[in-house]
Amino acid sequence: VSLLKQEQQQQLAWQIIDRLEYEGYEAYLVGGCVRDQLLGRAIKDIDIATSALPETVLGSFKRAEPTGLQHGTITVILEGIPFEVTTFRSEQGYSDHRRPDEVRFIRDLREDLSRRDFTMNAMAIDRSGRLIDPFGGEHDLRQRVLRCVGEPQKRFAEDALRMLRCIRFAAEYELVIEQETWSALLANVTRIQDIAIERIRAELERIVEGTSPGRGLELLASSGITDYFKHSLSDIISAAVQVLRASQLTDWTYTDEPMIRWARLFLAAGLDAEVAGKLMRKLTFPNRKLQEIVQLITMHSVLWEQAQIVMAQRSKGLLREDSIEQPTMEKTWKLQVVKHGEEAALGWLAMTSARVDLDEQAKDWLRDAYRWLDELPIKRASELAIKGDHLLQAGFHAGPGLGKLLRYLAEAVAVGDLPNDLPSLMTESLRLQSVKSDYDE
Ligand code: ATP
Ligand code: MG
Repeated sequence: VSLLKQEQQQQLAWQIIDRLEYEGYEAYLVGGCVRDQLLGRAIKDIDIATSALPETVLGSFKRAEPTGLQHGTITVILEGIPFEVTTFRSEQGYSDHRRPDEVRFIRDLREDLSRRDFTMNAMAIDRSGRLIDPFGGEHDLRQRVLRCVGEPQKRFAEDALRMLRCIRFAAEYELVIEQETWSALLANVTRIQDIAIERIRAELERIVEGTSPGRGLELLASSGITDYFKHSLSDIISAAVQVLRASQLTDWTYTDEPMIRWARLFLAAGLDAEVAGKLMRKLTFPNRKLQEIVQLITMHSVLWEQAQIVMAQRSKGLLREDSIEQPTMEKTWKLQVVKHGEEAALGWLAMTSARVDLDEQAKDWLRDAYRWLDELPIKRASELAIKGDHLLQAGFHAGPGLGKLLRYLAEAVAVGDLPNDLPSLMTESLRLQSVKSDYDE
């Protein structure tokens, strides 16, 4: 299906190129799609470069949006698929080390290719399928070398984000960074301070969630670039790298789930949920993603701590098998499930099952945890037979006390202390109200 879709995407791109050529302009496939095609990798999106000016492109297609007009990009949409069509351009002056002071539209493909960052990204394919490769990108790819176009020193000084792109590409495509390129990167690391945190975060996400996060982190740590992020990540990344090295988990290919990778990264670096959450907030992580990662770390700390307690007690002979110990893990687990929800619980199980360093006891508990999850009468407070409305009708006041009461009831039902039926839950609510006023404040 996806092959078919790629074929279709390719055909539509040719349609755009045909149309522009018909109007007398040049147009080529450029950038990532050329590189990925040579590597035999799946193509994500297709970028087109053209000698036509943006207004011309805008006027030539029924559905076209000026998505990046100031740098010459028009998004053309064919059959619902977007294509970025960008006018050949050159860039002058990078006084702020992030963006060119001036963008000039030009007529020459080669000059356009020369402003691009790496040789493998500076290739084009014309309508006949011919590769246009003035900087030896194909050769470099074959040698598995990542090399700047032109003078590396100048290129990293122009735009500091290229250093993170360099590390990301080296990891993602398993390339060796060419000597001069790497030296220039090392010489320019301080300039990363000029780059907005959102753009840094986006690159970090792609490194951690890509095909070789371990290698990406190694490169980040060894370059020293993380020392110059506005919100110092260097301790975290080097700690994570050390732990990963020590536990021989340098390649994280055993899990593709981004949230699990981030949670493992922060846990490896010894961060608790609160500190990790603060850091992600500073890095402008999307809130939902942040919450999911924080939940995984929280569940891990609570369950891990509980497991340590149980093990310690057992080794001192304080507890007998089955009687007290098992319910303790069971109860802790069930409480975590109602607190964070089934999705988070399954995420934690996936994260923990993937570990290679689990002992027999831990494996037993994991097997139990799946069973306990199935056994739970409810998996979140919203599945309670009693609703907020029932309580309001019974004279409880709206407010935080009500939420607290519902959470308490959910926990009691989850661990089997109360049945999940309305009369029992109402009776318990009224009883609590009579003994403790703080459930109704
Ligand atoms: P991917 O989409 O997988 O990240 P890509 O190569 O398509 O890879 P984009 O960020 O989509 O990367 O950029 C498209 C092209 O624009 C690149 O292939 C490269 O030629 C050029 N480019 C992007 N960012 C820069 C930059 N910071 N400096 C120089 N050229 C760049
Ligand atoms: Mg791209």
